[in-house]
Amino acid sequence: MAKSSFSVRILGSSSALPANNRFPTAQILDCNQQYYLIDCGEGAQMQMRKYRIKIQRIKAVFISHLHGDHYFGLLGLLNSMQLLGRTSKLNIICPAKLKDIFELQMEAGGGRFQFPIHYTFTDEIVESVGDTLVYSDANLSVTAFPLKHRIPCSGFLFKQQKKQRTFKKESLNLFGVPIKLIQEIKDGADFIMEDGTIIPNALMTIDPPAPKTYAYCTDTLPMAETSAYIKGCDTLYHEATFAEADVTRAKQTFHSTAKQAAIVAKNAEVRQLLIGHFSARYLDLELLENEARTEFLNSFLAIEGKLFEI
Ligand SMILES: [Zn+2]
Ligand SMILES: [Zn+2]
Repeated sequence: MAKSSFSVRILGSSSALPANNRFPTAQILDCNQQYYLIDCGEGAQMQMRKYRIKIQRIKAVFISHLHGDHYFGLLGLLNSMQLLGRTSKLNIICPAKLKDIFELQMEAGGGRFQFPIHYTFTDEIVESVGDTLVYSDANLSVTAFPLKHRIPCSGFLFKQQKKQRTFKKESLNLFGVPIKLIQEIKDGADFIMEDGTIIPNALMTIDPPAPKTYAYCTDTLPMAETSAYIKGCDTLYHEATFAEADVTRAKQTFHSTAKQAAIVAKNAEVRQLLIGHFSARYLDLELLENEARTEFLNSFLAIEGKLFEI
């Protein structure tokens, strides 16, 4: 069985304009050595090469909205997948227009994708209230919920699937459990001894660790409603495009300040906050980290190459 893992690698930390040594938004979520790409700004595949991320292991791509700094890198990545001979299905969770954009671009080049792409559209979710399941596999399940930006934009909540119970090895001798029944017991079964005594599952197993959750919120005004969708999540990524001195500009452009992101983290009672999507105007990002920490101490800069355990 694959080793359990749940971490996020930051590929890009900047907002729409290029900034020194920064790339636009993209992140790779690693769940049990399977990859999930969250937004895909320009240059994301170069960053994946740099951090030795095998692109064919990407099972699903989640695109928050159709501003270019969140998807301009995706067509190039799909093209590379094709050139490298991908045959396995790729899931793309995105606004519906992205499919039209890709089909037009592919048609113009006289080709089409040779591997299946399964689209799940987020348009209805972002126009309504509440969260909706948009993806699920053996590793995780993902819900989408509306954010508030200049164009429709969704946040995502990634939750590990519930793990199996852990079998206590001493049960083999203590109750005479045969090895072939271990899997059933991990799945929750009781055990009947030869003399008919029923050994309840709880005596032979221990609770698995609680499934962990990762919330992704970009680009958005700070929203009180967000806390309800992501309450108690382990790690929250929230955009922090601006410093507090530029709070008016943040409001005008439907973005958040670092301090506002930290207030969302505090209200949602998350364990740690990652901030990103920084405006190119800030050369010193410590200013933003410090501003976030005035409201929520466990705040960190989500900059290129950083790996965070969720
Ligand atoms: Zn953006
Ligand atoms: Zn945007």
